[in-house]
Amino acid sequence: MRITEIGIRVIANPHGEMVTAGIKGGRAAHDIVFIEIKTDAGIVGHSFAWGGRSGQATAHLIASIIRPLLIDKDPLDRELLWQEVRRMDRWWGFLPIYAHGPIDVALWDIGAKAAGLPLYRFLGAYRSKLPAYASSLILPTTEDFVEQAKAYRRAGYRAYKIHPWGDPGRDIEACRALRAELGSDMVLMSDPVAGYTQQQALKVGRELERLDFYWLEEPLSDYDIYGYQELSRALEIPIAGVESTPGGLFGTTQYLTQRAVDIVRSDVSWKGGVTGLMKTAALCEAFGVNCEVHTTTNALLDLANLHVSCAIRNCEYFEVLIPQEPFSFGVKNPIRVDAEGFVHVPQGAGLGAEIDFDLLENNAICTV
Ligand SMILES: [Mg+2]
Repeated sequence: MRITEIGIRVIANPHGEMVTAGIKGGRAAHDIVFIEIKTDAGIVGHSFAWGGRSGQATAHLIASIIRPLLIDKDPLDRELLWQEVRRMDRWWGFLPIYAHGPIDVALWDIGAKAAGLPLYRFLGAYRSKLPAYASSLILPTTEDFVEQAKAYRRAGYRAYKIHPWGDPGRDIEACRALRAELGSDMVLMSDPVAGYTQQQALKVGRELERLDFYWLEEPLSDYDIYGYQELSRALEIPIAGVESTPGGLFGTTQYLTQRAVDIVRSDVSWKGGVTGLMKTAALCEAFGVNCEVHTTTNALLDLANLHVSCAIRNCEYFEVLIPQEPFSFGVKNPIRVDAEGFVHVPQGAGLGAEIDFDLLENNAICTV
């Protein structure tokens, strides 16, 4: 099989304003980059790339650096192509990992479709469902978080993660209210997105231990390995981190060998695709650490995340950003949570996505 064409289209997510308002630092762009890898066998692999701060910038990086490397290559040589892209980055400079991951995802989509299997079975299935947690955006008030968590519990979720403001006093107040209002049977986590100093993280962490929170995620900047090491030693509550560190798989080793985190956060966007995420999960497994799969904020990459989550053992929960609409844009079969709080992996070949091509076309900005 040969790759004949790689289509790269920048799509405006009409829910972009909402996404930007609810995510710390407005880190998500309004854009999604839609990737179509065509082959001479007629099999087409699909993926979305995260737009970063500019979908067009991401699209041009993929088009100018990665596309020439892949044309006319065998799409089934995934490991070779993964190593080639990483090697090129090391020598020629600073290709963002979120530009590489989606290409690898589309190649896995092709491979699984060629085998006639859903991706998680192509990888080697461990399960076909896992529990989900509802993952909030940043909401205006404590009451908003409490009402949202209650509503999602009524819908079936058994776990809820708050993205609080990063203000220790207000964050503790919101976490206390969540525990008081939801009772002891709801699993709760908190992710202040690098909002604290080391002293603040220690203070909040101690309170979250009293409130029986399940984990404290990214309390410090992911770069602060020393701070994470101190915090993980001082606190009983598991500390989760490493979702966006440079180096992807290779950057994760420092956090594991120095016992800087108890839980590694990883996804197909920031760890270099399905290949990079599977490698990271295996690395974590060897250290006895869970690799909790982290949302990518877009529908096709989150589907790839779900397939990997069902092909590894050391991931306990699947993250679903809520409300789901902005993050499931572009597919007709968004990930759904059942009445027991589980997500089920699609059984179609490849990613199993029903892509809404008309919707993407209607929101297209440009082709690169
Ligand atoms: Mg996080």
